[in-house]
Amino acid sequence: MKSILDFADQNYLEAWFPRGLIVNGTDILSVSTSAEGLCPLRVIWEKGKIIRIKPIDNTNNLPTKLVLPRLVEPHSHIDKAFTWSAFPNLKGTYAESLESNLAEHKTRTPQVVRYRAEKALFLALKNGLRAIRSHVDAFGPSGGESLQTLFDLRSEWKTLIDLQCIALVPLEYWDTTEGRLLAGRVAAEGGLLGGVLLSEFKDEKSYSSLSKLLILANQLDCGIDLHIDETDKFPAAGLKQLIRALDHLQIKIPITCSHLSSMSLLPQSELARLAEAISSYEINVIALPLTNSWLLGRQLNETSIIRPLAPIKQLQKAGVTVAIGGDNIQDPWFPLGGLDPISLMAFSMPLTQLAPWHRLGLSPFTTSAANVLKLDWDGTIQVGSPADFIVLDASNWVEALSIIPSREVLIEGNLLDKTMLPNRTTLKDLY
Ligand SMILES: [Zn+2]
Repeated sequence: MKSILDFADQNYLEAWFPRGLIVNGTDILSVSTSAEGLCPLRVIWEKGKIIRIKPIDNTNNLPTKLVLPRLVEPHSHIDKAFTWSAFPNLKGTYAESLESNLAEHKTRTPQVVRYRAEKALFLALKNGLRAIRSHVDAFGPSGGESLQTLFDLRSEWKTLIDLQCIALVPLEYWDTTEGRLLAGRVAAEGGLLGGVLLSEFKDEKSYSSLSKLLILANQLDCGIDLHIDETDKFPAAGLKQLIRALDHLQIKIPITCSHLSSMSLLPQSELARLAEAISSYEINVIALPLTNSWLLGRQLNETSIIRPLAPIKQLQKAGVTVAIGGDNIQDPWFPLGGLDPISLMAFSMPLTQLAPWHRLGLSPFTTSAANVLKLDWDGTIQVGSPADFIVLDASNWVEALSIIPSREVLIEGNLLDKTMLPNRTTLKDLY
């Protein structure tokens, strides 16, 4: 494939960059910024790190590329990716997703999980991702093996993609002997503990399971990332359980709430009060607009008029860090998805009414996503940060998001190519 870049060993890029991601560039205070918040810059690097950022003043020779830092996928399920064709969910309901997912789960082997996950990592790399947080079904006969497969891939791919694994099991499983052993193993591997807190669980049993998970994770100093309130019923019932548990316990570990969809159905004042509580406990939120819009609020013969989706703007206003993720990848839960952060931005724009030319519209895909995953680099572009870029064949946001553009990926200043892939991979022929 012909590169969209016309350089080979060049150590600089001239392109449009989002002004909001450029930090401490005293040299660029005077740079002009487009209506979409983009500024034309020359970014120079050495030994994989940025050493200089300069404005491009010549308006007769403006750049034709748009550059972003390599991005982050904060919520996915790469262990079940690409299973839609064998286990479809043609009705598109939550119940049928679960049913197909359970049928598919029975057929899992380490080999098929490895193939799916590696294919996902490969796509992610080519599309410009540098980190992925993936939930892994970690219960049942193949659960332990799937988790081990992902831990193996994490170390094989670590120079290319930072893979974070969350063990996803029924909440009450964490309070069994096997569950506690699994938690110890996950914590030792640097993973996180997960689970599903559905809003129907108003009973003391689920509150007790949640409290025990929090205590266990706290003892192990291991973060948790919960699927919580992914429903169009019982607004924020799971979140209320979580806040109640945190009110009674001394928990110091990082907590992430994925989904929080039904929270948007609360009356405004209650929503604001809960958003403050989330902020005070420093809970991070990952909104998942694609799967929520596909699965929730569905009725047999009517188009849904409700939009169960984390109330992103209200949460941001309360000081909560909110990231946006893609969630499922061509599996029974969602037929589309391909770990493409540009496509995610494009599809999310009308669903969330967030736009990348606003700071809080861009941050859920960039700095906030990096912060939720606690990555060393927050994705801002400054002297000293990695020369890790997605170079899009577009010169503004609307071009970039209207027709998903071709791109090149630079890692530490080098163009990505197949020689960088891990030795063990069987995917080099796909490149
Ligand atoms: Zn999920």
